Amino acid sequence: MAKIYITREIPESGPAALKAAGHEVIVSTKEGVLKKDELISALKENNPDVVLCLLTDTVDSEVFDAAPNAKIFANYAVGFNNINLEDAKEKGVTITNTPGVLTDTVAEHAMTLICALAKRVVEADSFVRSGKYEGWGPMMFLGSDLKDKKLGVLGAGRIGTRVAEIASNGFGMKVVYYDIKENEFIEKNAAAKFYATPEEVLKEADVVTVHVPLLDSTKHLINKERLEIMKPTAYLINTSRGPVIDEDALVEALKSRTIRGAALDVFENEPELSEGLSDLSNVIITPHIASATEETRGKMSEIAAQNIIAFLKGEEPPNKVKSV
Ligand code: NAD
Repeated sequence: MAKIYITREIPESGPAALKAAGHEVIVSTKEGVLKKDELISALKENNPDVVLCLLTDTVDSEVFDAAPNAKIFANYAVGFNNINLEDAKEKGVTITNTPGVLTDTVAEHAMTLICALAKRVVEADSFVRSGKYEGWGPMMFLGSDLKDKKLGVLGAGRIGTRVAEIASNGFGMKVVYYDIKENEFIEKNAAAKFYATPEEVLKEADVVTVHVPLLDSTKHLINKERLEIMKPTAYLINTSRGPVIDEDALVEALKSRTIRGAALDVFENEPELSEGLSDLSNVIITPHIASATEETRGKMSEIAAQNIIAFLKGEEPPNKVKSV
């Protein structure tokens, strides 16, 4: 029997599977995110054999040292930029993630944000609620059509490809994409055209949607210079990780109408917002909820548990993150 420490309450399917496999499960009792020093104290106190951690946990050598018996940290997310993979390798710790099960729901959230921006749903809702609506008007809240518009996908992996499929097959959008490698699947299923640089996508796209992982090479992938390449009528959507966009530069671009609008599910210094962002009417902000459906969060919990159970049986976990 292994002692498994979970850093915050997650849907019960995963913990239930771990208990059914005969393991002891301890869940952090703290409300909210564990700061790094709190995580270290909790690990020292509980001395677990396994840690199931979240994207809000900063995990590096100090954290690994606080749980010397834990040779697996199972991340409850597909992204793993919260974990220092070099430190994990050095300490001999296996890292797992939860890819695939959240692809559809995150793509649906990206599409929701695209539609909400183009149809000005949030602005219009506030307008009605504030009592300003005095009747139908031919020039009220003119938005943009999506049909025949060009969607630019930055990062055509699982989620980017799914957004492209929905946009192309469901909304009649044309798709162009940039990735470090060409992807035959997106080309076949969304008639997408590959560009070898982000600039070519940014120049042409009416809607740009970002789906790269956060890496040194993708930090500030969207910066001031690249925002200036975009069409003044373009929308930018980010459901990947906040630091992929230079948020201060985005605020300036939205204020000066360098681009028409943006929708963000993630922020550069989460949960803080860059100054001025929340004052803008041409931005839609959601609190990192792109994978937040009952079904998906339940599946993520199960997958994290399956990774742990396989590891404890001495098998290769199904979603082991490749070491650096
Ligand atoms: P994935 O690995 O399938 O796709 C990522 C793609 O980005 C790959 O095709 C890869 O080649 C490409 N890429 C990597 N480096 C690049 C670079 N420098 N330039 C251009 N392309 C590059 O991952 P996924 O499952 O599609 O998830 C993508 C990201 O979405 C995750 O890493 C995670 O950070 C984020 N995410 C956010 C939420 C949320 O709640 N907002 C939920 C799930 C995932």
